Amino acid sequence: MSILSLMDVKKFFPTAQGVVRAVDGVSFDIGKGETLGLVGESGSGKSTVAYTVIGSHAPTSGSISFEGEDIGLQASKRPLSIKKRLQIVFQDPGTSLNSARTIRQTLEVPLKVHGNGMSRQQRLERVVGLLDLIQLPPAYMHKTPGMLSGGEKQMVGIARALATGPSFVILDEPTSALDVSVQAKIITMLMDFQRRFELSYLFITHDLSLMRNVASRVAIMYLGKLCEVAGTSEFFRNPLHPYTQLLLSSIPVLSDEEERLKPGQVISRGEIPSPVNIPSGCSFHLRCHRKMEICEHKDPEMVDTDQGHRVRCHLYP
Ligand code: SF4
Repeated sequence: MSILSLMDVKKFFPTAQGVVRAVDGVSFDIGKGETLGLVGESGSGKSTVAYTVIGSHAPTSGSISFEGEDIGLQASKRPLSIKKRLQIVFQDPGTSLNSARTIRQTLEVPLKVHGNGMSRQQRLERVVGLLDLIQLPPAYMHKTPGMLSGGEKQMVGIARALATGPSFVILDEPTSALDVSVQAKIITMLMDFQRRFELSYLFITHDLSLMRNVASRVAIMYLGKLCEVAGTSEFFRNPLHPYTQLLLSSIPVLSDEEERLKPGQVISRGEIPSPVNIPSGCSFHLRCHRKMEICEHKDPEMVDTDQGHRVRCHLYP
């Protein structure tokens, strides 16, 4: 059973240059305890999906349901019970924490809002428990973010998201601003918390290689639309969409088996176009190494090729 379900969600932004179709008809489900890796280049719309799910803005159209409830509303109109169960970890821990607050004050904010009248002592004990969870000593509660390393700040961001006991957490590029050694620690921690607390994750990233060991399923996004969705092992074993093949051909591999599964070198043609000037037909056709005549004027439909392996491309009618 899915815990989060998006059905044909669109989010458009009017600008002086024209309408930005940031998210244009995105549908997916995420099950309990599952991680969906949502992967795309800058400008693909993946972060807009995250901010629409968390309620920073309402969708232009389409529906979003969470634990069976319609949440297609801005966060300000959502009930507290939803906000408590649906949390986010932001990309930049430097800006997502209030620099004037101590770590204790930061972790107490969600407890005051969602803690059902927790006493001061109960909140203090919970703050100590959250610090223990992220392997930081209790004395850290008296520090401010400026006294912490980037990795420690992100761990506090994770603790803040977990403070309310959520069932679902959006991870918006949680490690991309961190050193590689710290990234591994944060990922291990997130996977451990997922098992212990039965969390579901929507993991937003531009790093496809990271998804191999983290995601249950992978979804690729390009110019506001999903172009391929598959279970992780099927995705890496049998990538279908030319854009996925382009992305996979350029990621580093660690083993002979990964090298064997990797698509042959695909040459990238140009950059992702502006979202205010999306090409006609298949939006990837200007960069596609397998473009056909039909691709220039007909946008392909998403089709299910095999047991949940979905792809949007005229090569798979
Ligand atoms: Fe390439 Fe055509 Fe498929 Fe688009 S629809 S990805 S242009 S082959």
